[in-house]
Amino acid sequence: MRIAVVHKDNCHSKKCGTECILYCPRVRSGDETIALGEDEKAVISEELCVGCGICVKKCPFGAIDIVNLPEELEQPTHRYGVNGFALYGLPIPVEGKVTGILGPNGIGKSTSIQILSGQMRPNLGIFESTVSWDEIFKQFAGTELFDYLKHISGKEIKVALKPQYITYIPKAFSGTVRDLLSKTDERWALDHLVDELALGSILDRDIKNLSGGELQRVAVAACLARDADFYFLDEITPYLDIYQRMAAANLIREVAEHRPVVIVEHDLAILDMLADTVHVAYGRPAVFGVITGPKGVRVGINDYLEGYLPEENVRFRDYAVVFEKRAHTKEAVREELFTFPQMSKTYDRFRLSVRGGEIKKGEVLGLVGPNGIGKSTFAKLLAGVEEPDGGPLAEKVTISYKPQYVSADSSDTVEFMLRRITRRFDSSYYQHEVIEPLALGPILQSPVDTLSGGELQRVAIAACLSRDADLYIIDEPSAHLDVEQRMNLVRVLKHHAEGKECGVLVIDHDIYLIDMISERIVVFDGEPGVTGEAKGPFSMRDGMNLFLSGLGVTFRRDKSGRPRINKPESFLDRDQRSKGEYYYA
Ligand code: ADP
Ligand code: ADP
Ligand code: SF4
Repeated sequence: MRIAVVHKDNCHSKKCGTECILYCPRVRSGDETIALGEDEKAVISEELCVGCGICVKKCPFGAIDIVNLPEELEQPTHRYGVNGFALYGLPIPVEGKVTGILGPNGIGKSTSIQILSGQMRPNLGIFESTVSWDEIFKQFAGTELFDYLKHISGKEIKVALKPQYITYIPKAFSGTVRDLLSKTDERWALDHLVDELALGSILDRDIKNLSGGELQRVAVAACLARDADFYFLDEITPYLDIYQRMAAANLIREVAEHRPVVIVEHDLAILDMLADTVHVAYGRPAVFGVITGPKGVRVGINDYLEGYLPEENVRFRDYAVVFEKRAHTKEAVREELFTFPQMSKTYDRFRLSVRGGEIKKGEVLGLVGPNGIGKSTFAKLLAGVEEPDGGPLAEKVTISYKPQYVSADSSDTVEFMLRRITRRFDSSYYQHEVIEPLALGPILQSPVDTLSGGELQRVAIAACLSRDADLYIIDEPSAHLDVEQRMNLVRVLKHHAEGKECGVLVIDHDIYLIDMISERIVVFDGEPGVTGEAKGPFSMRDGMNLFLSGLGVTFRRDKSGRPRINKPESFLDRDQRSKGEYYYA
């Protein structure tokens, strides 16, 4: 079985001389395997195509994908028209459970939700006529989806939705947080949600003036406040610290006691504590997606990290993601790059004190701590954007900084923007170490202000790494990146630090990412919004113990070596706490 997908936005037949048609061997021998449709875009006949891939290579805009599908995939659940994205399978919302979908962006998660909520009738890949519900039932006969689809056929199911990207909220709604939340308060649960998500102090703030972290918590509260048949939350963690992530996860579990909840989440430690089952989604983003049957959350995440699904006998990644069981220490002796002194910074209502320490050449240093504790202030002190109390730092290093919130205000293309920053754009180093692992190739010609949140994040990381500097400070790079992209990020930043003998500071709240990326960590503690203290850099073991003891959370290791959050007050939790081993137990 083979599918041909034409990305219509990238197909510009007037500009390319229709080389796909000219060079297709089937067309040359007289078949109409590729032709132009009424909209002047390529249409490829999947029956006639022999899969040689010549058109894929000839198209200058990367508009064509030809993919041989695994044999067991027969009929799609839904296809967006001839040569459109094809979805196979569906996740199954279950009463009393949190069902996770684990997979990359663009793999069909939102499409699935539109089907499950009755907003879109699946077409089974048939375009000539409207597919009847009976045909749809037949395809799912004998599966758990059969009952669910019977239930929704013909009627609208009320879904409460937390969208992936929250920045559109201030554009669609004007008023205060209180105005917005009172409109959604259908379960009389608002007071509880406001308490648990610590929204009390911002209730009278205008939605327009909220930070990303505040907006994310408001969006979660607004979704959970609704009285719906099922709840769908597409990423809850961007811009939240680990305390807020856990608070949101606990609230979602409460709602799941009486209604099905489906979530998409790329912070795997949080997904692991939140979901009961997961459906792995694999395939090729924007081309085809396969949603597997439900798997227990431990097994599902481990299979995903392994890159191999034993039940389906599918390998979808050629390497496994592994966690080091011991706290890693780098054997290499690193030279000192920069020493930051003991210092403080006092604002009207907040004071940061820094104990002082050193950053080494070639190392990636993790910065952890709650929001509002002074991490960005610390970064600004190092960058010289802010002066410490008592005068500027004596020692200067050049810094390149990626802020936590990235905005797009330019209509220049991605390539144009990057070329303005670096003269090395065409070098093979830049292509291999930046463009390819951050998967920027397909969006190089896109205007920056049309990018999605995840695309913009990758461009902002690339822009930061393109500048010459001694020290790179990267604030929350994981926001809106899927698991694959996070793994690539680890590689990119480690290579960058070692290759350039510079320092890389990463502020992030995804514990797995911090574990994999950092050689040492700086821990911030104190009272958010009032005082903060930067301690360290510590070794991974000491730093994780200090950080997690403040949080009161312990991690155990499962058989594969993956860290998993212990249930509070479980035997292991108490045991590890008494030994002071919070992470590398
Ligand atoms: P996810 O939620 O996993 O990011 P989506 O379900 O939103 O993925 O989309 C999967 C793919 O389906 C997209 O990459 C896009 O190529 C295609 N797609 C989504 N919506 C439409 C549409 N309305 N028409 C045509 N193609 C679409
Ligand atoms: P984090 O990066 O850990 O989330 P920040 O360093 O951004 O924390 O902020 C720490 C505290 O300092 C916050 O309470 C914030 O309101 C305050 N703060 C940050 N910048 C300023 C400033 N320029 N003037 C006054 N207060 C500030
Ligand atoms: Fe023609 Fe198919 Fe080869 Fe493309 S892959 S050139 S459509 S035969």
